[in-house]
Amino acid sequence: MALMFRNSLTRAKEEFKPIESGTVRMYTCGPTVYQYAHIGNFRAYMFEDLLRRYLKYKGYRVIQVMNLTDVDDKTIRDSRKKGISLKEHTAPFIEAFFNDIDTLRIERAEYYPAATEHIPEMVAIIKKLIARGLAYRADGSWYFKISDFPDYGKLANLDRSGLKSGARVATDEYEKESVSDFALWKAWDEEDGDVYWETELGKGRPGWHIECSAMSSKYLGNHFDIHTGGVDNMFPHHENEIAQSEGANGEKFVNYWLHCEHLIVESRKMSKSLGNTYSLRDLMDKGYSALALRYLLLATHYRQQLNLTFDGLEAARGALERYNDFIANLSDYGGGRSSGEAGAIVDRVLQEFESRMNDDLNISGALGAVFDFIRDINRLRADGRLSIEERDRALTAIRRIDTVLDFQTRQAALDAEIESLIARRTEARKRKDFATSDSIRDQLLAMGIVLEDTPQGVKWKRKV
Ligand SMILES: [Zn+2]
Repeated sequence: MALMFRNSLTRAKEEFKPIESGTVRMYTCGPTVYQYAHIGNFRAYMFEDLLRRYLKYKGYRVIQVMNLTDVDDKTIRDSRKKGISLKEHTAPFIEAFFNDIDTLRIERAEYYPAATEHIPEMVAIIKKLIARGLAYRADGSWYFKISDFPDYGKLANLDRSGLKSGARVATDEYEKESVSDFALWKAWDEEDGDVYWETELGKGRPGWHIECSAMSSKYLGNHFDIHTGGVDNMFPHHENEIAQSEGANGEKFVNYWLHCEHLIVESRKMSKSLGNTYSLRDLMDKGYSALALRYLLLATHYRQQLNLTFDGLEAARGALERYNDFIANLSDYGGGRSSGEAGAIVDRVLQEFESRMNDDLNISGALGAVFDFIRDINRLRADGRLSIEERDRALTAIRRIDTVLDFQTRQAALDAEIESLIARRTEARKRKDFATSDSIRDQLLAMGIVLEDTPQGVKWKRKV
């Protein structure tokens, strides 16, 4: 079963083949740390979490980089408004970002480079572009000359005939209608206050786009496997990253571009004026759990617009309950006579989960297979037509799938940890390693778990 991704660059579904066998190098555009991240931002991070976890499920080693944009037009503007330094302004938002992704169980990337700590790397790329005739100076700033880069527009599928040669934009974000030479390095002006670096390019600060070209090549090399982000980053940001990296290095930048669609709230676009740009904290204050939000953000295919509704959060809560009850009831199940059906049911869920996910991360199809499995095994368990061996196979399957979904509540996760300790103790006893088995028993006792050896195997209960 081949893993297929819809590549924004070719606008086609393609089989995924990593550059280095067994390893995936991927770059994801991270937060601009000038405010608390909102659920729209988390949609993209959640999609990247699903991608990362599924690649690991498939056996790949994943090296992921997510940048922290801690210097740009907005961070400077807001720190000046507050009258504090750039660092003082961004630090609490960086901390909040990490707290939020941990709360949502978004796995940490391998690297979180901050833009302000990579100025020399950015200067080096701009110098390469100058040497190749792709950058020029105007009013003290340095710009990328898009008319001399014939591939400009290949990602966003721009019509190059409309390019106005020499038109320039200095802002980091702009619309497709104003396709222009963009700033690589911005000369200092009064509005920047004390935010500047003295470099060979003059006194100033980097543009937004150059940081991703610099930091991706530093940690992943000039040519790597996957680049992700929200659709709103496709133009100009990602188009500009390609121009900078390919222009400077003369080789292909990224093999697969994956973009996730927008999130809307109760069928309306998120906006400050509607008051619906919720942060994670806002939703938790309304009584919704982070796990319900995780479920909801994961459950819609990443290339479809996600309509977040409060009914949807309720439904997510219900689905999580079914999922966790299934694991709890199955763990407590004492066994019965096999009806001979469970083996095929377990095989089917593993095969379906993988074949759906292989199809460009079709998560709704994959979840459908998981809930069919839960229904079928629940039925066998309720009728006592499931043996202990079959029960264990079913538990192993759902736990494997849960390495991708991570939907187990803390209690169920704790139960899983207890069971794995018990299994290790049983193993130790089998090989007469009583030192290990006793130390595991002590460890469990310390967790408040009492073991009881019975003819059906080890049972455990919580100390009351
Ligand atoms: Zn980026």
